[in-house]
Amino acid sequence: MKLAWPLAAASAARCRYEVRGPLRDVVNCHCSMCQRLHGSFGPHSKARKVNITITKADGLAWYKTSEVAQRGFCRECGSSLFWEPFELDATGIIAGSLDGPTGLKTMGHIFVGEKPDFYKIVDGLPQFEGSSNGELVNDYK
Ligand SMILES: [Zn+2]
Repeated sequence: MKLAWPLAAASAARCRYEVRGPLRDVVNCHCSMCQRLHGSFGPHSKARKVNITITKADGLAWYKTSEVAQRGFCRECGSSLFWEPFELDATGIIAGSLDGPTGLKTMGHIFVGEKPDFYKIVDGLPQFEGSSNGELVNDYK
């Protein structure tokens, strides 16, 4: 079980969730939307929807970013929490919102074709111009 708070001070947190079950390791998304949202890339874990429980939703808001997905965030503090596809049974979890230590590792990079020029990827992990098309999956299922 992982507990997560979008704020460092749990007592002030307006959104909380729990994941009971495996988390996928982290995929860094370098798409233009993640750049705007996270300041650079978006580090995403993932879990099955049935294993995610929202335990406090006072500040939770959803923004539909496309026909296929919405993003969950805290409207009080602005923390990013989720990338939730409508049609799939798993939700992306913004890894920085998890309470650490997470035990997760970074698996690779997606949408590198949209990466800005002000940083380099030097970790030697797999890179994909766009989506990994399911190649970057491990044990969350
Ligand atoms: Zn992205």
